[in-house]
Amino acid sequence: MLYNWNVIGHDKELARLEEDFTNDNIHHAYLFIGPEKVGKFRVAKAVCKILQCPNNFCHKCPICIQIEKKCHADTIELEDDGESIKLETIKDIIARLSMTSQSRYKVLLIQGIGRLTSEAGNCLLKTLEDPQGKTIFLFTAGQLRDILPTIASRMRIIHFKKLHDDILNKALRELYPDVEQETLNQAIILSLGRSGRAIQLLNNPEMFQELHEMYDKIKFLDEKAGAATRMLEMQELAQDPQRTKTFLALLTHYFRQKMLNSKVAQERIRATNVIAAIHRGIDLLARNINTRLLLENIILSL
Ligand SMILES: [Zn+2]
Repeated sequence: MLYNWNVIGHDKELARLEEDFTNDNIHHAYLFIGPEKVGKFRVAKAVCKILQCPNNFCHKCPICIQIEKKCHADTIELEDDGESIKLETIKDIIARLSMTSQSRYKVLLIQGIGRLTSEAGNCLLKTLEDPQGKTIFLFTAGQLRDILPTIASRMRIIHFKKLHDDILNKALRELYPDVEQETLNQAIILSLGRSGRAIQLLNNPEMFQELHEMYDKIKFLDEKAGAATRMLEMQELAQDPQRTKTFLALLTHYFRQKMLNSKVAQERIRATNVIAAIHRGIDLLARNINTRLLLENIILSL
């Protein structure tokens, strides 16, 4: 790597970006697509520094530090706060982008571009279509389908994937030299290939414990629980949308491991069927189907 990205994994994606920068082929708009907490925003933030830093992305100069602290005048950053991005916000940003500046670029970094309202999206589109001189757009999103196609088609898209366990293990071992291997292994399982989530878990014992208990519960529901207990658990889970999301992700992981590792053909077939049921369920969940019915359906497929 040419730069010290300070990012876990994604070597191919970073190499593609480095190629753009070194070949003087910087696209005016980049869209990073991929699952939550795999490092897209971290990469985007590093790109801001690479573009703006006069010392070849030094991590130390006032500009690098200002960008890190979100107070660089010509690097506008909208972090995902769960709220939609309204027209007024985009108008303010466009006004800022058109001011004169001393910086090498004007950079607009938006995390979760799928949060744009349609008015805000259309307003931003005009600027994207007709970018002012040195403006660079950096957007992140979970899925391509969250984004207005007219916006996506004007951007250079880079896909980020979940990371392999061995890449996570190597990086986390360096970051947490004193943590026991068993704890590291569990954090990696529960992170489902997401470096940011693994770090969150290692820094937050309560969250770690909660996910760990959920994984144990899945094992219990699969191996020991009777039909009545399973139904009761699903009814309780359905009250909490965030936990439901996590539960389905862990359930998928649990059965994927079974599908890959079980020596019994029938077990592998069963795991494949459960995974198919979960995927159907996740699709339906996005369409506002009753969560309880959906969870009950999935649990019946066990
Ligand atoms: Zn610097």
